[in-house]
Amino acid sequence: MALDACTEVPVLKERGQREVFCGLTGIVWLHRKMQDAFFLVVGSRTCAHLIQSAAGVMIFAEPRFGTAILGEKDLAGLADANEELDRVVDQLLARRPDISTLFLVGSCPSEVIKLDLARAAERLSERFFPQVRILNYSGSGIETTFTQGEDTCLKSMVPILPSSNEKSLMVVGTLADVIEDQFRKIFDTLGLGPVYFFPPRRATNLPPVGKQTHLLLAQPFLSETARALIQRGGTLLEAPYPIGVEGTTAWLESAAKAWNINNEHFQKTIAPAKERAQIGLERYRQSLDGKSLFLFPDSQLEIPLARFLSRECGMELVEVGTPYIDRMLMQNEISLLPSDVLLSEGQDVERQLDRARLAKPDMTVCGLGLANPLEAEGMTTKWSIELVFSPIQGYDQTADLAELFARPLERKKRLSV
Ligand code: SF4
Repeated sequence: MALDACTEVPVLKERGQREVFCGLTGIVWLHRKMQDAFFLVVGSRTCAHLIQSAAGVMIFAEPRFGTAILGEKDLAGLADANEELDRVVDQLLARRPDISTLFLVGSCPSEVIKLDLARAAERLSERFFPQVRILNYSGSGIETTFTQGEDTCLKSMVPILPSSNEKSLMVVGTLADVIEDQFRKIFDTLGLGPVYFFPPRRATNLPPVGKQTHLLLAQPFLSETARALIQRGGTLLEAPYPIGVEGTTAWLESAAKAWNINNEHFQKTIAPAKERAQIGLERYRQSLDGKSLFLFPDSQLEIPLARFLSRECGMELVEVGTPYIDRMLMQNEISLLPSDVLLSEGQDVERQLDRARLAKPDMTVCGLGLANPLEAEGMTTKWSIELVFSPIQGYDQTADLAELFARPLERKKRLSV
């Protein structure tokens, strides 16, 4: 454990046992977003089980993810896993002509046996491109947290984005379609564009990138993707994330400034949605005001959520834990946290549990693995993974986001009378 006080807010750094999901989880929201892509996990039965239970079993639709199971012979090096993989890909693409992009997703088992998926993607691309583009990335659980799966996926697409010198805005990070539409409407009214969303709804519809591309991050866990886009010439717009009224306003304003949009026009454009959000929030603020909050590190959304819950909902932050802090992407958020906040990076789960038990917070945000035991101890919890799966960004989702936290507190109140 070490204390890093190089910024205004000191950070408690911990390295110990961690309780997080792996990056395969990202397939759940990525496959819903990119409707023409298929995610083929190259892994074990455990990986297949994880992804199936995380995504739910789809009965009515052909799934757009699957697992090429590495059998015992593959794992023992007795069979040529590459041959097996080629066979599975052949079968899949023959059966599913709707697939335009195939992601080979690495896992712990494929990494342990050092299966070179980059080479496999190249080899298979020679046969299937241009009908199908084949890319690869790692969703392995080793040294990652679950949202990093999206980062590695998007990074794998950056080299194939077309080049362009046109001035444009690229919103980076998966957003629900409904939120994308809301933001697009605001950008259109502002007169700002062209605007591209990355990842796109169709994996073949890739956004262009170049020296005049302004990057506006919609998700805080895209460190590698952001750096790869900057290397391609993009400029990162500094802003907090579009969570809550304050975050959404500052996020939109950052883009508006890059387009020299007149402030009066900006304020007028956002006013109706901003007012709706403020009115909607008021109802839940009353339940949340003054309640204490402890966030365990899990999704990488912890810092923006803590900022929203403390500044707009009046919650008191006991500890804000996050898996890692990338200052380039997080500084604008950290500077909005109360200066006396306990910010922790990484995890030593037993120590952190001790701190939470001692503090007895009104609400604890944590991963699924910790939620049940803590509930059994009488603590009120919120699954952090739910916040990644739910549409929470933007003005129109602000009240819903506050409600996600207010509801368990209300339930507890009702049960205790
Ligand atoms: S990738 Fe690793 S951590 Fe994730 S399900 Fe497979 S074996 Fe488990």
